[in-house]
Amino acid sequence: MITDILVIGSGISGLTYAIKIGEQNPELQLTIISKNNLLETNTRYAQGGIAVVSNFQKDSYDKHIEDTLIAGAGKCDKEVVKFVVEEGHERLQELMDWGTQFDKKEKGLHLTKEGGHSENRIVHHKDSTGLEIQESLIRKIKTFPNISLLENHTLVDLITDHHTGSLNKRCYGAYVIQNLEQEIIRISSKITVLSTGGAGQLFSHTTNPLNATGDGLGAAYRAKVLMKALPFVQFHPTALYPKIEGNTFLISEAVRGEGGILINSKGERFMLKYDPNAELAPRDIVARSIANEILKSDQEYVYLDCRNINKQDFINQFPTILKNCKKIDLNPLIDLIPVIPAAHYFCGGIQVNPFGETILKGLYAIGECSYTGLHGANRLASNSLLESLVFSHRAALNSLKEINGNLPSKEFYENVPEWNGAQYIYDEKISATEKLKKNLQKIMASKVGIFKTSEGLIKAESELKEIFLKTKDIYNENKLTLEVCELRNMVSVAYLMIKQSQELKENIGVFYNHDNVA
Ligand SMILES: Cc1cc2nc3c(=O)[nH]c(=O)nc-3n(C[C@H](O)[C@H](O)[C@H](O)COP(=O)(O)OP(=O)(O)OC[C@H]3O[C@@H](n4cnc5c(N)ncnc54)[C@H](O)[C@@H]3O)c2cc1C
Repeated sequence: MITDILVIGSGISGLTYAIKIGEQNPELQLTIISKNNLLETNTRYAQGGIAVVSNFQKDSYDKHIEDTLIAGAGKCDKEVVKFVVEEGHERLQELMDWGTQFDKKEKGLHLTKEGGHSENRIVHHKDSTGLEIQESLIRKIKTFPNISLLENHTLVDLITDHHTGSLNKRCYGAYVIQNLEQEIIRISSKITVLSTGGAGQLFSHTTNPLNATGDGLGAAYRAKVLMKALPFVQFHPTALYPKIEGNTFLISEAVRGEGGILINSKGERFMLKYDPNAELAPRDIVARSIANEILKSDQEYVYLDCRNINKQDFINQFPTILKNCKKIDLNPLIDLIPVIPAAHYFCGGIQVNPFGETILKGLYAIGECSYTGLHGANRLASNSLLESLVFSHRAALNSLKEINGNLPSKEFYENVPEWNGAQYIYDEKISATEKLKKNLQKIMASKVGIFKTSEGLIKAESELKEIFLKTKDIYNENKLTLEVCELRNMVSVAYLMIKQSQELKENIGVFYNHDNVA
């Protein structure tokens, strides 16, 4: 199959990029693939909203820039922070023009405040902002006759000079597994965009959906593309402890903002011991404090007590949280909510320039799978959806320039080789992948999670090596399946994260190694 532009991933990044190209260029053929249905993305789970300066009487770009730089602990790229904040306003307007609804107040938008923000600047749709964005983008994308949507199609590997035998240092599309048929097809393309989201599934507890296995990162690594800042994983302090449908559901920070307090297994409020801002301390501090309390107790969670929040306010503000708690017979208005920190957001990723370009020509990375320099060592709340909007726009503009430039011939793309891999499945070995995945998650959670030690990182590396060897064995001897594909990526990303963590000698932002403490 041949397409002009291949977009891998259907979250806010991939869909925004595709709309931008599709709207202005009906002559170009775009293909979007997504691992599951178009809706199942990190985007759809976003609750809080998008940080955008909108109230210019009280707020300013300078204040938002300053807040972002403080959160990033001196590791942000200042130029990137500046243009992302300044371009956000226009990008938000486009999103609304495409049909996304945000809550309104009097004449303007209703703005909330989250940790680390000096002003109210979070635009939102109740507590289900991501779902509203995702659904409106899907409605919009379906109006373009020149955009093909392939659900249940999973990226296996990027096509590079290694496959074509050329020396262009370009990407020529991707090999993609059809999840249902379990067949691998070749999609060659002039431009390829990775918008595959995060990799929360590397850890036992995560707020990310099951498909967030770091596939874009794994494929980019195999294509020798640079990866940066992987150890900076933001853990959300309060995810619901029992999993619902395999996922850990997020209990938004806003609940603590409204008065929810944290209580340990002995029934004691503990956050004041750790920080004068108590439950409203920065996320990394709250997450570390909870992890510490859990380590000291014989219980795998602490409690969030919301009983002092006005009941009607809770019902009005947090309908999604209420609904999800009820799924497990919890009523937050009268019961304590068991919570645990969970891997939430990857500040690092595939290194890109201010236009989303990687070092491989024709390959872009946007959204959570990329490292742009915006977040540095810690992301300011609600800056990630903003980053996706701004970089999708910039990458789209740049792609259009590139596609009209000097590219290999049509025949070259037609002759890109098909996938060349094993064709047989030995069930016994394939069934081992689930166990290997669980082991990997345990290693990462216990040794590469919120607290690390230098010895733990060495152990993690050697334990991961065993999983790597078994995965390699399965990969080499069997026809590739979706599960093996995911495991292979998880192993690669875990390995890179461990190696980069070993090199970090200072505790900064969300990164914490006990042995780095002076
Ligand atoms: C619970 C939760 C709450 C959040 N709240 C906020 C918030 O309030 N504000 C904020 O700014 N950010 C928030 N975030 C972060 C934000 O939602 C994400 O960073 C952002 O949505 C990422 O968008 P994306 O388009 O880059 O990736 P995603 O939305 O994750 O989309 C990834 C896409 O890639 C596809 N994909 C993955 N692997 C493959 C593959 N191998 N082949 C084909 N397709 C693949 C997936 O199927 C999916 O379509 C939250 C995240 C979570 C999990």
